[in-house]
Amino acid sequence: ATPTAVMVATGKGASQGVLIKGGNALENAYKVKTVIFDKTGTLTVGKPHVVSTMIFSSMSIEELCDIAAAAEANSEHPIAKAVVEHYKKLHEKFGSNKENISEVSDFEVHPGLGVSGSVGGKVVLVGNKKFVQAYNVLVSPTVEDYMTESEQLARTCVLVAVDGMIAGAFAVTDPVKPEAEQVISFLRSMSISSIMVTGDNWATATAIAREVGIERVFAETDPLGKAEKIKEFQMKGDAVAMVGDGINDSPALVAADVGMAIGAGTDVAIEAADIVLIKSNLEDVVTAIDLSRKTLSRIR
Ligand code: ADP
Ligand code: MG
Repeated sequence: ATPTAVMVATGKGASQGVLIKGGNALENAYKVKTVIFDKTGTLTVGKPHVVSTMIFSSMSIEELCDIAAAAEANSEHPIAKAVVEHYKKLHEKFGSNKENISEVSDFEVHPGLGVSGSVGGKVVLVGNKKFVQAYNVLVSPTVEDYMTESEQLARTCVLVAVDGMIAGAFAVTDPVKPEAEQVISFLRSMSISSIMVTGDNWATATAIAREVGIERVFAETDPLGKAEKIKEFQMKGDAVAMVGDGINDSPALVAADVGMAIGAGTDVAIEAADIVLIKSNLEDVVTAIDLSRKTLSRIR
């Protein structure tokens, strides 16, 4: 496209909340045949909340929630925010005399897995099954049952291990964006296929994919794995777009022919992307592709 055409399209995009960084993205977007979506915060609202709590130890609910919230207090992950929020709500409801969340030391973030730390002299792990198992924590059939039940309901199960044993668990739910299903079906009508890649587990991912009408899912994928998936699809010869919001999506956003970041996403994702969807509305994936199609066809 001519510099003028790119300028006009960029201006038009900006007025519609689609920030296009440079002409390359615009020149590539119309060729896209595959759109790879991240799940959490991209297809879903990204504000999960705790909908159920289970105790697998002699701990009280309040104790479990405090320990989990303490471990998650310094994490930016949406699941961490849900756990902290849950503790605060519980505290309000029962008005106990304990005002604040306990202190954590030795806090560590394990991307795509969970968090670890020391709370009141106890070693605490909060995260998924893969995470606790890596620390040789046994996940009993009773715990497995709770996980399966949660995941079939499209919930993500968060395990809390204290001193090497599962003390309890939470199920968090993150609703899908209201426009998601329609956007996927619209893309299909444009002969563009939609795929999900997520760090979350297979059962939850599959349940969410079904809700929005996505048929192909890749779950339990780490940040570099997401980028690898992009490359795999590129090798089939078609241009690939990636839509994501997290730090964990940035390698994939860079690898894609067109990286699109959700406006409400992390700064790292926004920097890695070629296009920013300012309104965080998935309809703008179509807006961006459409703008490219129109710009490129006008000059050809
Ligand atoms: P997504 O690709 O869906 O955005 P992430 O890669 O951020 O997900 O995380 C993958 C999985 O790792 C989550 O579904 C969750 O099970 C676990 N996880 C990551 N961070 C945390 C955390 N702070 N607390 C609990 N679980 C976490
Ligand atoms: Mg995400």
